[in-house]
Amino acid sequence: MKTRDMFKRKKVLSFEIFPPKRTGSLDSIFETIAELKDINPDFIGVTYGAAGSDNKHHTFSIAANVKKTYGIESVAHLPCINLTKEDVLEMLRDLKDEGIENILALRGDINPDVEPKNDFKYASDLISFIKKHGDFNIIGACYPEGHMESPSIAEDIKNLKIKVDAGTDHLISQLFFDNDLFYSFLERAELAGINVPIQPGIMPVINKRQIEKMITLCGASLPKKFLAIMDKYEHNPEALRDAGIAYAIDQIVDLLAQGVDGIHIYTMNNSYIAYKIYEAISSLLVA
Ligand code: FAD
Repeated sequence: MKTRDMFKRKKVLSFEIFPPKRTGSLDSIFETIAELKDINPDFIGVTYGAAGSDNKHHTFSIAANVKKTYGIESVAHLPCINLTKEDVLEMLRDLKDEGIENILALRGDINPDVEPKNDFKYASDLISFIKKHGDFNIIGACYPEGHMESPSIAEDIKNLKIKVDAGTDHLISQLFFDNDLFYSFLERAELAGINVPIQPGIMPVINKRQIEKMITLCGASLPKKFLAIMDKYEHNPEALRDAGIAYAIDQIVDLLAQGVDGIHIYTMNNSYIAYKIYEAISSLLVA
């Protein structure tokens, strides 16, 4: 099922997982997916080479398994900066053969040590290309606080509108810890004429090092309330995990009460966290 159709029925709940490193076994990720199945997610997204990890060769096979073996709709991430048009055409054929209908089309992060191929400069170039070459549902990334490289949020929204007009069916946001920033972003997006579903991305934080790494990569601001939790519980893993889950639930309850289109959870392959959140919010997921 295409994700754009899911939003017509209910608030969409989805999870993001990442493949193991090249040498890692796939067993643990399949275990995670089997556990996530109990929560009945609307879809599971599988990252591709995110955060510099070398895992791209597993993305499509995991996404195919999510769908075929576990009966859960899947989304394959596809960053294009280091791909040629021929590479993408081949991948689109593979995705079609595997029955994958949903692609999160991304530019990807620029690696200073890798000369980018020049076929796709922005995600919008990839989106127009995919639209021309298949019947895929295309998802794009958006940034409530503006993308790190963007000179301003206004400039970023202008570029987001280009991306949506190129054929984006639905947007998933970068993680954020201050809901007010997300609401301002929604207002700006609406004013710019962006009218596809926008799913806020929430990352439950369960260890301080993980969040420090994420912040370097995406630049999300950390509210005082959040920093207090980090400082107080950084040496007590169980307390930090519980506080991180509680903080995420608090964010999600507020977001759903404000009428957002759905929730996307960056699970970090931790099904326990996904389950705890689901338990707390499942009754709120009515349309
Ligand atoms: P774009 O939409 O192309 O934007 C990149 C920058 O270019 C922005 O500053 C934008 O304002 C600017 N821009 C866009 N269009 C134009 C234009 N026409 N003219 C001038 N400027 C323009 N990365 C991975 O490698 N693998 C993953 O699996 C992955 N999954 C992700 C999932 C989500 C939900 C999110 C939010 C991000 C994910 N990323 C992933 C990270 C993403 O690749 C990076 O944030 C990357 O730096 C930008 O990708 P993009 O698709 O948003 O780029």
